[in-house]
Amino acid sequence: MPGFAHIVVSLLFSAFLIKFSQNKFTYRHAIIFTVNSHFGPDAFGWLPWVGPGSEIYYFIHGYGWIVMAFLMALPWFYVNNHSLHWKPKFHLTKKSKSDPNYLKYMNIYCLVAAGGIFHQFLDLIGHPPTIHYEEVGNIVDWGGVWFGNDNWFNLDWVLSTGAFPCGNTFGFTLSNVFTTVTAIILVLVVFFRVPKEQGKDFTKFAVILTLIYFLPLLIAYFIPDPHNFIENNPIAYENYTGEGSYYPSTFYLTGGESDFGVILYMLLFFFVPMLFLYWGTFGLPFGKDEKQEGTIKNEAKKDLNEGEKADSNKRVEITENSLGNSEIEEPNIENEE
Ligand SMILES: [Zn+2]
Repeated sequence: MPGFAHIVVSLLFSAFLIKFSQNKFTYRHAIIFTVNSHFGPDAFGWLPWVGPGSEIYYFIHGYGWIVMAFLMALPWFYVNNHSLHWKPKFHLTKKSKSDPNYLKYMNIYCLVAAGGIFHQFLDLIGHPPTIHYEEVGNIVDWGGVWFGNDNWFNLDWVLSTGAFPCGNTFGFTLSNVFTTVTAIILVLVVFFRVPKEQGKDFTKFAVILTLIYFLPLLIAYFIPDPHNFIENNPIAYENYTGEGSYYPSTFYLTGGESDFGVILYMLLFFFVPMLFLYWGTFGLPFGKDEKQEGTIKNEAKKDLNEGEKADSNKRVEITENSLGNSEIEEPNIENEE
């Protein structure tokens, strides 16, 4: 693992998140995320990583981490939600659920999952995709994430979804057609569906545009290069692919750049952990709306801390103001422990 990089990047990123979320992402979130981003799946480095049985290691040090994180979150859940006391005698006490430092299991799970996947975000650029391993006398996958069978996601794969040197010099007309069509769609979408509000509306807008750009690349990935570009241009062949590599026709759409691989890399190893970080901080989107619950608790606490013996009407008023709606029913506030 690029250990120093894991630590530095996740610490700086945590500092940014604490600032950016105005302390909703706390130092506790930061520690769970950072430690799992540093060690995370490497904690299973003692498992065989070549030959028989290595699938287990590559499952855990891969997308299987999302499953493994359910188990790995247990010790964090225990440690975070207990307090250690020395006086009068050594004992552990359980934190109450209303303790401001209490974290729900699913929130901790999300932080652990985010850390382990983000770990691989750096592994993929910090490791050589393959190494020559004498003992097995072979080239083995090293900086790669296994997706079953012969499917390895590594930097070579990301780059090989393009075809450098830049295809524009080779006159890929398709890239111009693709750019023009998506540009027209972009203008239409912006013109007719400008996000009018913050938040959800903008997310929808971003997802639609992502699909417009991404789906054609995805489809083209399954269409083999019809013009045998690689065979006719051995420089590109030598630089980026191995013998017998599959060459998709995606690069005709992107002018030779590796957009498809880069988008998939960012989706799987950056935006998925970002989503987990968001859920780990604000709660999962299904079930109870924890974000609102959290806001209510905070407001109610602030209220009590200020020593104002506010009547319930006043609390409701505060909640309404802070949420910008009046859908919160009084009983929710009264449930505050
Ligand atoms: Zn690793």
